[in-house]
Amino acid sequence: MNVDSIVRKVAKSNLKITSLVGSGISKASGMPTFRGEDGMWNNYKAQDLATPFAFQKNPILVWDWYRARMRILLKAKPNPAHQALTELEAKGIGIGVVTQNVDGLHEIAGTQNIVEVHGRIRYARCISCNHYERWDNSEFAENVGELPYCSECKINLLRPDVVWFHETLDPDKWTKAQNYIEQTNLLFVIGTSGVVYPVASLPQVAKQMGAIVVEFNIEETPISSISDYSIIGPCEKTLPEFIGKLFEEMGI
Ligand SMILES: [Zn+2]
Repeated sequence: MNVDSIVRKVAKSNLKITSLVGSGISKASGMPTFRGEDGMWNNYKAQDLATPFAFQKNPILVWDWYRARMRILLKAKPNPAHQALTELEAKGIGIGVVTQNVDGLHEIAGTQNIVEVHGRIRYARCISCNHYERWDNSEFAENVGELPYCSECKINLLRPDVVWFHETLDPDKWTKAQNYIEQTNLLFVIGTSGVVYPVASLPQVAKQMGAIVVEFNIEETPISSISDYSIIGPCEKTLPEFIGKLFEEMGI
C-alpha cells in the first residue's frame, strides 16, 4: 500500500499518537548505535563497559568511554525525523515520545513530552545523593582520566544517568511510557528493531488496546508482523513525508 493510502486509512479526528523510537532515528544525526560493530572502543565492547560492575572496577575507564561518546554527541544535531515529531506534538496530535535513545536529540529538537526509558547520556547523577547535573560540554568531555565528583555532597562519584546492562528501568519512567501507550490510538514505531525488552513489548500492548501500529524502518523487523502498516526507508525521509501528508489530510 502506498503512503497516501495509508495516510487516508489512519487519519481521523481525535488522533492520539505515541511514538516509540529507537536508534534508527539518530543515524542521520551521525550517532553510532554503540551496539554491534559500532560498539567497539579501544577493543572494549559496550557490554563490557556499560555495566555497574565495570564502573565499580574501573570508573575512570567507563567515564573515558562516555567522554569519547560525548565528543561525538556534541557534534550531533536533530534531523528532520526528530523535528517532525516536534511538529506532531505542536499540532496537538502527538501525545508522547517514548525513546530508547539516550542522546537527548528529541529534547534539543523541542519535543516536550518525552520518556527516555534508557536514561539520558547528557546528565550525570550522584551514586549516593539524589543530585543530577548536565555534563554535555566539551570541557567535561575532554577531561580524560579525571573522575567527576558530585557538586552537591562533594564526596561521592558521579555516574552517567543511563540504564546499564544488568540494571532495571526507572519504574516512574516505565509507568509514564505505559500511560502514553494506553492513551494512544495510533502508534508510530520508528527506527527500532524491537528486540530489546521490556520496551519491545509496547507495540503488542498498544495493539491489544486497539491502536493502529505504523512502523517506519530501513528494513523489515520483528515489529513488522504485528504492524498494520510498515513503511520501509530511512525515517528522516519517510517520517516527515508521512506526517506532512497526515496534516494535509486532516487539514491542520
Ligand atoms: Zn552527591
